[in-house]
Amino acid sequence: MIRPTYAGLLLGLTLLVAPSAARALDVFACEPEWGALVKELGGDRVDVFVATSARQDPHQIQARPSLIARLRSAELVVCTGAELEIGWMPMLLRQGANGRVQPGSTGYFEAAQYVRLVDVPSRLDRAEGDIHAAGNPHIQTGPQNIPPIAAALATRMQQLDPADAAAIAGRAQNFQARWAAAMQRWQQQGASLRGMTIASYHKNWAYLENWLGLREAANIEPKPGVPPSSQYLAQLVSELPARGVRGVIYAAYEDPRASEFVAQRIGTPAIMLPFTVGGTGQARDLFALFDDTIARLAQGLAGGAGARR
Ligand SMILES: [Zn+2]
Repeated sequence: MIRPTYAGLLLGLTLLVAPSAARALDVFACEPEWGALVKELGGDRVDVFVATSARQDPHQIQARPSLIARLRSAELVVCTGAELEIGWMPMLLRQGANGRVQPGSTGYFEAAQYVRLVDVPSRLDRAEGDIHAAGNPHIQTGPQNIPPIAAALATRMQQLDPADAAAIAGRAQNFQARWAAAMQRWQQQGASLRGMTIASYHKNWAYLENWLGLREAANIEPKPGVPPSSQYLAQLVSELPARGVRGVIYAAYEDPRASEFVAQRIGTPAIMLPFTVGGTGQARDLFALFDDTIARLAQGLAGGAGARR
């Protein structure tokens, strides 16, 4: 029978109390796209908790106790920022009382700070609905926004996990190279969409539209965060055909009925897009998110009634 030696016991204890070499960075990601990006950069050196799913409206999340508990242990919080999470993150940060991840600290990262935001309102009037006062926060719908965010996030992760810094740099370089190649592919696949006019449910797609050269004629929401009345839907149905709308786009988390109603009445397709990782079965990671988004747009806007000029 083998008896544990004193030296063996000591070694075992050392491994138990000093696991830092293999310890994963504890990351709290507000949305699935940032959880996916953290995994691309951190590999198996990160333990990522994603606070919301693609089936949830990120404007409207409840600050549940389970989220507060996960925030309490986090070493890095990665959110969109630009006030997207204004309805729930301030409460989580307060209740979580975790000094490492408060705004302004190294452990708090807002992706929107590395992107030039569009749709910044010239004036603020709450009568205009839930206006995004800092500009359009739906930055993950534009593939052009991902590289600067990835670069800044990699730097932040290196600061928080210096032992993994070289490996993070390698993963980041690899990611950026694959992303650049993928963007060329998506641009080619989306080339036929340039100049087409669409309508969308919420103003979720500004960055994607800018990148692909799509024009947005209208939103199905009369004001941000406000569902359309039947009167407003009727107005859209009468106005949109003259404006050359070839499809109505909505996100996986949105109720499709209003978008489908308008699309059907004006004889164009209603196109559901994943919006983030997990929004469709195909959108399993950031690359697949855009593969699927471009494919759905190209397929949806190509033929049928929408092809009429
Ligand atoms: Zn919004």
